[in-house]
Order: sequence, then structure tokens, then C-alpha cells
Amino acid sequence: MRWTKAYIPTVKEDPAEAEIMSHKLMVRAGMIKKVGAGIYTLLPLGLAVTRKVEQIVREEMNLIGALELLMPVLSPAELWKETGRWDVYGAELMRLKDRHDRDFVLGPTHEEVITDLVRGRVRSYRQLPLTLYQIQTKFRDEIRPRFGVVRGREFIMKDAYSFNRDEECLDKTYRDMYGAYDAVFRRCGLRFRPVLADSGAIGGDVTHEFNVLATIGESHIISCPSDECAYAATDETAESVIEESTVDGSPAPLSETHTPRMKTVEEVCAFLKAESRKLVKTILYESDGEVVVALVRGDREISESKLRRVLKRDVLTMAGEATVRGFTGAEVGYAGPVGLKGARLVADKNVVKMANFITGANKTDYHLINVNAGRDFSPDVVADITVAASGDKCIRCGRTLTDYRGIEVGQIFKLGTKYSLKMNATYIDEKGVETPFAMGCYGIGITRTVAASVEQNHDDNGIIWPPPIAPFQVIITPVSTNDEAIMSAAEKIYSELCAKGIDVLLDDRDERPGVKFKDADLIGIPLRVTIGSRSLKQGKLEVRIRRTGEMQETPVEDAADRITQLLNEIS
Ligand code: ATP
Ligand code: MG
Repeated sequence: MRWTKAYIPTVKEDPAEAEIMSHKLMVRAGMIKKVGAGIYTLLPLGLAVTRKVEQIVREEMNLIGALELLMPVLSPAELWKETGRWDVYGAELMRLKDRHDRDFVLGPTHEEVITDLVRGRVRSYRQLPLTLYQIQTKFRDEIRPRFGVVRGREFIMKDAYSFNRDEECLDKTYRDMYGAYDAVFRRCGLRFRPVLADSGAIGGDVTHEFNVLATIGESHIISCPSDECAYAATDETAESVIEESTVDGSPAPLSETHTPRMKTVEEVCAFLKAESRKLVKTILYESDGEVVVALVRGDREISESKLRRVLKRDVLTMAGEATVRGFTGAEVGYAGPVGLKGARLVADKNVVKMANFITGANKTDYHLINVNAGRDFSPDVVADITVAASGDKCIRCGRTLTDYRGIEVGQIFKLGTKYSLKMNATYIDEKGVETPFAMGCYGIGITRTVAASVEQNHDDNGIIWPPPIAPFQVIITPVSTNDEAIMSAAEKIYSELCAKGIDVLLDDRDERPGVKFKDADLIGIPLRVTIGSRSLKQGKLEVRIRRTGEMQETPVEDAADRITQLLNEIS
């Protein structure tokens, strides 16, 4: 490609709303252009990188025997009503009506559509396992679209779905996918970690998120520092051992204390001169019309993900003021477990180890002190419902856990029979028995992966593409387009490299060298070949590695070979 024939609208200024480097650089390098909140056009350079990532994903999917297909973006609401996700998915689901007033969905994910495709058609155990995938535009009406294509409302995803005979068969597919994901992100030149995670609105039991390490990442990950143990999970999911220094003597007499207008943990603790770990937070939730009361130590957060799992519920929302008032007989801020009736009481496992703690008194402006589980109230369920934090101990090996941030670029789920049961999708097993498929689903955010790569691979001057996903692997920069010798050398190298199947950009613009160098750095081409009259007189040209800034002189005759070799070395 010649620059004068390309469309690479580089921009000098950072876009005002861009908060992170990848967003700024993708706009400035002429890769993306905003159309609306969370909606972007992929310009030719952005599309080139996207296609490279897609190709890597496609190759790795095909390697494990997954088959590509393309489902429609648009699907009828009936399918979503069949699984209940028409209601459960909530506001993120993009809904629309056709001219006959029928409801439709712009797909955020395709479990319903694919299960509908397979049911009734794949009938024999001999056809299993079957894994199908597509690379397609997805829609999600994100509450807060941001960070450019990291969190868009329209984005490209690879989504795969497996239909398996049983758990064992699903295990094998899941492991294959895990391996394929590992290969994809490695080939994209990313530093990443697979971590145990929460299955959220997709549902299912086992799930891993693949997170690219980045300080701006929205995923919070807790991990064991030991390579041998390597325990890693999202903070909402991670199990950990929390210090037990809160076990504090034998139970003292329960008493009520006046805490006027003191509602938050901070206010109550300051007022009573107590550490927040001496208090127990009582939080009311609503789920499917049931009220659930959750208890967690005052200095820690409740993991709604863990709580949902304990309750086996998909949807959980914090109770509104009216419910809290109705249940506790007090204003919000004074709820406590003692004497509370008619709701399921879930206590965190650390709460039952505590002694003589503070809770609300279910009476406005009052708290109780010296509360003890067992003596003063009995939880219906005791479970781990706390968000893990750095400083906790590893559940597996006891070492101190640390935290870091990541951008979730992929997630794989073992769905089991969640969708096949609801949608009556079965096959006939070896014994002739009608059996629901054991399913898995597996997503990769293609456009998010592109952005995550920029987030990890850039410097002050611009993007530094890992060669396998660079829009062009080499840029040829003749310092003057009016010099015949320079231009003929440039054309020679250009056609030699093209003949080798390398993606080359020839910067044939009549611009000052400084401008060309700046742009080459900004758009992040791994190798720059500079052709200037002085070195050309000695039969040489200069090759510069974008990542290190290292320069090498190469004779013009074997430049194409040398450049190819160098590309391999840095890939
Ligand atoms: P998140 O927690 O970031 O909202 P998710 O867990 O809802 O993502 P999945 O349903 O697992 O996402 O979708 C599969 C992949 O699609 C994600 O791992 C991510 O890479 C990508 N993805 C999800 N939402 C978006 C979005 N709004 N914009 C771009 N990519 C997205
Ligand atoms: Mg996810």
C-alpha cells in the first residue's frame, strides 16, 4: 500500500473525552472514528488490525475442530422469552420492534439462537461433541460506554458454543478452548492471565476470564504470588482466608446504644470509637420477590456474585428504602440480624467467627453492641460472601494474595444443561435415552483485544504493534520523493517485500522526513526502512526497530532478506 493511496487520517490532538492511552492513540493513529457514544467506525488501519486478530482467532478455533458459521444479529424475542433472558438481561439488551409491532433483539450473545439451531437437528451422540463459532458484531446497551472500543455498545466478538454429551465431554472441549485462548492471546503478543470468574448473566458453573494486565483495567484480580500455586480469580469470585483477629473473647451481655443520625459504617464506628472490623454490615436484597438479608464484616464488601451463587439466583438487587423500612421497622442504616423475621439470613463465614460485634438494632437511631451469632440470631446459611482483597491469604497455599487490574479480553463458560433444559434441546445417547446437551460458550472481544494490545504496547510517540497483528509490518520511508535514486531503491524494496507476502506501507507522500517519522511511530509499524541519499551512495539503507529504536544499516541488495529475518526475530 502507498500512503498517498491509503486513508490514514492521523490526528495531532488527543480526543477530549479519551481517558486512556489506547483510546487516544487509536483515534490519533487514524484507526477509529467515533459516531456516537460507544459506537465507532473502524477506519482502514483499525480494520486491518481487527482482521489480523480475527484471523488468529479463526486459525486457533479451526485447530481445535470448531466450525465457523454466521448467525443473524437480529433475533425474535420469543427465543429470549423461552430462556427467561428477555427479562433477566435487563436494560443492556438492545430491543426493537418491526413494522408488525413484533419484538426483536440485537444479539449481545447467541446462546438462544444457537441452541434453537441445534435442537431437533443434532440428534445422535455420534454427532457430538459439536462446536460452532462465529465472528460477528454484538450489541449491548452498556450503562457506561467508555474507553473507545474497550467498552462499546456495538463491538466485534468471536462467540463459540459447544454441544457435548456429558460433563466429561464438556470438560475436554473446555480444556481445548482454554488452550486455544492461551494461544490466541500469546500470538497477539499480549501479557495476560486466565482467572476464575463469575458467570454473571450467562450462567453456568465453571468459568475463566482471560485478562490482559493493564493498570486501567476494569477487572480486579486477586492472585497468589507463587508460580507453583498460581491461584488467580476475580475479586468477586476469589476465595480467601481473612485474618481472624476479630475473634474477641467470650460473649458479653447484649445491649442497645443510642446512635443518633449515625448510619454508615464510618459514622457508627467513629461515634462508638470502634474499628470497622468490629461491626457487621446488614444488607437487604431482593431476588424473585424474596427478601434476603446478608451479613458481612464492616470493613469488607459483599460479593453479590458469591451471594447469587449461594442463593442459586440469577438476579439480585439491593432492596429499596420502602422494603428496608417495612422489614426492619427502621430507616435505612439501622438494619441488623437480631429479631429480624421473614427473610433468609445469609452470614459470611467470617461473621460467625466474630464475637461481641456491633449491628443495627432495627430501630431508627439505635445500634446493638456485643452481638453474637448463635446466641442472638441464627443464620440460615453460612457461606463465603466477601469480596477478596490483597493481604488475604491464599485458600490453596496460605501465601499472601496480591491484586492487580486487567482488561477482560475473553471468557469461557461451562454452561452445563442450563440452556438445553430450558429450550428442550436433547440428543439420543448410546442407550437410546433422550439427554439434554451439556453446553459451553466461549467469547473473545476482538475489538477490545485490539485496544488492549495498544494499552500494553505503546510509548510516548505512539503505538508499537506486535508484528503478528500490525496493520503493516514494514514502512518504507524515502526521505525525499523527488530524488530518483531514492525512489527507485524504495520501489525495489517495496516490491521485493510485497512479493514475500509482507504487508508493506510505502510512505510516498511529499512531506518532510520529520513528519513521516512521526507518523510512522504514531501508527506503530514494527520496522521502518529509511532511504536517504547519503547512505544510498554507499549502497545502504537503514532499518529501525520501532520498539527499541535500534538502527541497523543493510546493503540494498539483500535488504529484503535481512528485513524478513529481522521481522521473524522480533515477532
Ligand atoms: P464485561 O464484564 O467487560 O462487561 P462481559 O463479561 O459482559 O464483559 P462476555 O459476555 O464474557 O463479556 O463477552 C465476551 C467478551 O466480549 C468479553 O470477554 C469482552 O472481551 C468482550 N466484550 C464484552 N462487552 C464488551 C463491550 N461492551 N465492548 C467491547 N467488548 C466487549
Ligand atoms: Mg465476561
